[in-house]
Amino acid sequence: MNVQTQIDTTSPRTTEHFDVLIAGAGISGVGAAYHLTTQCPGTTFVALETQKTFGGTWSTHRYPGIRSDSDLHTFGYRFKPWTSAPIASAKEILKYMGEVIEENDLARHIRYQHTINSASWSSEENLWTIEATRNDTGEKLRFTTNFFWMCQGYYRHTEGYTPEWQDMARFKGRIVHPQKWPDDLDYKNKRVVVIGSGATAATLIPAMAQDAAHVTMLQRSPTYFRTGRNAIEIAEELRKLQVDEKWIHEITRRKILFEQDAFTRKTFAEPEAAKKDLLSAVEAYLGKDYDIATHFTPKYRPWRQRIAFIPDGDLFQGIKSGKASVVTDEIDRFTEKGILLKSGKELEADIIVTATGFHLSANGDIDFAVDGKKLDFADTVTYRGMMFTGVPNLVWVFGYFRASWTLRVDLVADFVCRLLTHMKATGTKKVTPQLRPEDHNMPLLPWIDPENFNPGYMMRGMHLLPKRGDKPEWQHNQDYWAEKDEFPNIDLKDKAFVYG
Ligand SMILES: Cc1cc2nc3c(=O)[nH]c(=O)nc-3n(C[C@H](O)[C@H](O)[C@H](O)COP(=O)(O)OP(=O)(O)OC[C@H]3O[C@@H](n4cnc5c(N)ncnc54)[C@H](O)[C@@H]3O)c2cc1C
Repeated sequence: MNVQTQIDTTSPRTTEHFDVLIAGAGISGVGAAYHLTTQCPGTTFVALETQKTFGGTWSTHRYPGIRSDSDLHTFGYRFKPWTSAPIASAKEILKYMGEVIEENDLARHIRYQHTINSASWSSEENLWTIEATRNDTGEKLRFTTNFFWMCQGYYRHTEGYTPEWQDMARFKGRIVHPQKWPDDLDYKNKRVVVIGSGATAATLIPAMAQDAAHVTMLQRSPTYFRTGRNAIEIAEELRKLQVDEKWIHEITRRKILFEQDAFTRKTFAEPEAAKKDLLSAVEAYLGKDYDIATHFTPKYRPWRQRIAFIPDGDLFQGIKSGKASVVTDEIDRFTEKGILLKSGKELEADIIVTATGFHLSANGDIDFAVDGKKLDFADTVTYRGMMFTGVPNLVWVFGYFRASWTLRVDLVADFVCRLLTHMKATGTKKVTPQLRPEDHNMPLLPWIDPENFNPGYMMRGMHLLPKRGDKPEWQHNQDYWAEKDEFPNIDLKDKAFVYG
């Protein structure tokens, strides 16, 4: 064997240094790379991505019908116009992201199949040391960086969350989680039961109903949906007038955001009226005789969980046509033929899809340490949902639930670039968020108030997340409309930032 081609997989041979290191090449990581290139020219950086390609969520999920549940004018970046229908397939989103990478020459900054295993900060050197593994060769790599930009999303990509039900092993058909869709799954003329009624179930069901014998959505409790035409009138009008796409993008974004703000406020101020609006749109598709009270009327106030948009009411059309149906009941146990419900009814199935959510992963399953001490993010307090007390030179991108995630990608990027420029100008090497004297008696609360937002993955994983305080600086308030004005005005000389 040629000794020179042997790869030492046990310890890194060299250390590469970058001013900034980005974890992940999803919509957040690619956005971070774009903003560094345009707002901090001359900054050296690399994005390490464990998958074989960019896209994150949009390349992990390959189930039938996979699409966005919010519009692409706001899920798209503010700097690149979205020119098609607002609800887009994963394929269209990946094409858009591919164009961003190509148009801005970002590919040379992204390294695929690179898994970040650990990150340790040294105050002596003012550096993060990042240990990574190349998935294809097993080679161990070491990087150092001044600033760690965490764009690793919020859930584990390697496996979805499936609850343990009694007798699952007895079921003779196939059980599939949407996060790991098998390439060989043939559901033509098969009876399918989809467990869950979130955005994933609502997407899968109309797509599978086209070929399956029948698809049943089995839910324990109902979910709110918004529905309407997959088009935005103002964008169509402006396009007819041959207005520049850049203008159309900006105007359409403003219109959507204005309306979303009004709707969000209504869900807090007049929850019953907001609920009525949502339910009457469902009734318009399913008719007065359909049991909307049982199957589509949640017990919670609208917006305490994400509200998926159903383009052209396709889920409801599937139900109306008889190709799909909804059962609201609880699972007693699995049987050889399907699922036995608590009501005593048995749902027979050839395929069971568990659209039951994610495993929250607050830190990309990276082992963190600060000055030799293991870091548990749950012991920290968040600075505006993006930095953490006692953790130097690190920013995490966590988007919005009630507005598109990417709106925050752009806002956080503006902040990071302003911070990096400030540190360069002042010759400082380290910035660490710290509670100010006036914050010391502040109550420390869980990351998010369950009264405000309470999806299952968040409730299951809350203990892993940083704490929040009761002041705007010390929480992720999920309010784009406030943050769009607050973020550009964050005082970098505030005592919440300790420089060194
Ligand atoms: C099916 C689905 C539909 C959604 N639809 C919408 C929508 O319409 N609108 C909306 O606003 N939000 C939506 N979301 C939420 C969505 O996840 C975010 O909006 C957004 O895509 C997250 O982007 P991200 O880049 O932050 O994270 P991700 O898309 O999760 O990407 C993170 C990347 O980091 C990589 N990574 C993680 N850990 C490591 C590591 N240790 N080393 C190296 N790489 C690592 C991952 O492989 C991944 O590629 C949806 C989520 C799902 C699951």
